[in-house]
Amino acid sequence: MTAPTLGPTDAPITQDVLTLPRKLPEGGPVNLVGLTRDQLRDALIAAGTPERQAKMRVGQVWQWIYHWGVRDFGAMTNLAKDYRALLAAHFAIDLPEVVTRQVSADGTRKYLLRIAGGHEVETVYIPEEGRGTLCISSQVGCTLTCSFCHTGTQKLVRNLTAGEIVGQVMLARDDLGEWPVPGAPKDETRLISNVVLMGMGEPLYNFENVRDAMKVVMDGEGLSLSRRRITLSTSGVVPEIARTAGEIGCLLAVSFHGTTDEIRDRLVPINKRWNIEALLNALREYPRLSNSERITFEYVMLKGVNDSDADARRLVKLIAGIPAKINLIPFNEWPGAPYQRSDWDRIEAFADIVYKAGYASPIRTPRGEDIMAACGQLKSATERARREKVALNP
Ligand code: SAH
Ligand code: SF4
Repeated sequence: MTAPTLGPTDAPITQDVLTLPRKLPEGGPVNLVGLTRDQLRDALIAAGTPERQAKMRVGQVWQWIYHWGVRDFGAMTNLAKDYRALLAAHFAIDLPEVVTRQVSADGTRKYLLRIAGGHEVETVYIPEEGRGTLCISSQVGCTLTCSFCHTGTQKLVRNLTAGEIVGQVMLARDDLGEWPVPGAPKDETRLISNVVLMGMGEPLYNFENVRDAMKVVMDGEGLSLSRRRITLSTSGVVPEIARTAGEIGCLLAVSFHGTTDEIRDRLVPINKRWNIEALLNALREYPRLSNSERITFEYVMLKGVNDSDADARRLVKLIAGIPAKINLIPFNEWPGAPYQRSDWDRIEAFADIVYKAGYASPIRTPRGEDIMAACGQLKSATERARREKVALNP
C-alpha cells in the first residue's frame, strides 16, 4: 500500500540509537506482531532505541502496523531513514501464511493458515448486513474432546502465539481490503465489526496469549475494536473465567449444551472436572466483574439427545438470575459425527420455551456449511484432506 505521511519526519537519528542490541534473542529477526506495548518498548530499546524516545517510537510503529496495516519498515515515512533501517535489521512484521481461501455460496470466507512448524489453523469470516464477524482460532487442535465437535477429534498440537492470533485479524483485513486509505473519508461501517474466539481450540487454555492478542485488537490506536465487540467462547474452564473478566473484559459465551451433569459429562467432558453448578457459580460473577453485557449460553441442538421441552425448562431454571441470552446452534454435521441435527420444529419449540421464560433465544443460522466453515466443523485440512477433496477458490 502507499505510505501515508503522518507529519514531519523526526530529527535525524543520533548515533546512540544505533547501539548494538544486548537483549534481543539470537536467530533471526523478532516478529513485532502480537507484542504488547510494553513488550514492543522493551524490544525497541534492546535494539538500540534510547529510552527517552521509546514511548514515542512505540506509538509510531504501533500505528503503522495496526492502524495502517503497513508491513514494510521502509514505508514508515515519519521515521528517519536510519531508524527504519535499524528496525528492518532487527525486526519483522510477519503474519501466518494463507494456504487456501475458500468462499462459500453465502459469502462466508474460510482461510486455511500455515504457522511456524508447518501447523495449520482455520479462520472464518462471516459477512452480515452492515457488519461482519471474524471467527478466530486460539489453538491448533484442542485438548478437550467434546463429542459433537470436529476440532475435538484432532489432538492438541500447540497453542497459538499472540502474534498468530492477532495475525488472523490482520490477514482478514488484508483480504477484505479493510485498512484505512490515507486521506480518504473515514468509513464508519466496518467489514470486521466483531471478533469471536470460537474457532479451533479452547481459548482459556491459552489464556496469556489470547489476552495479549485481544489487548492489541482492542487498542484504540490500532485495530480498535471495542471490548464489547469481542466474544470469547469457553467450554467451561471455571478457574479462568474471573480472569477473563478482569484481564480482558470482553463478552463471554459458554458452551453449555446439557442441562444435567449426566448429559453434559458426555457432550462436554470438561464438565467432569467443573460441573454445571461450579460453572454457573462462576458465570453469576462474570457480568459484575467485567461490567459486560449478558452472557451467551451456546446450546447445540442434537436430535433426541438434549433437545426436549424438559431440557428447555431445566435450562431456564438453571440460569435464573444470570443476565443471559441463549444461542441455539443447529448441529453442524461432519464426516463420522455420532449425532444428527434436531428437526427444525423441535429447535423452534425449544426456542419458544426459552423465549417465553424471558430470554432472547436466537437460532444461529449455519454459515459456510458448503466449505466446512460452520461452527464445530473446523479441523486442520492436512488431517481432513485424507478423507475429502477441498475445493479451492484462490
Ligand atoms: N472451544 C471453545 C470455542 C470453540 S467452539 C468452546 O468450546 O466454547 C465454538 C462453538 O461451536 C462452541 O459453542 C461449540 O460447542 C460449538 N460447536 C462445536 N461443534 C459443533 C458442531 N458440530 N455443530 C454446532 N456447533 C458446534
Ligand atoms: Fe475444544 Fe470447543 Fe471443540 Fe470442545 S467444542 S472440543 S472445547 S473446540
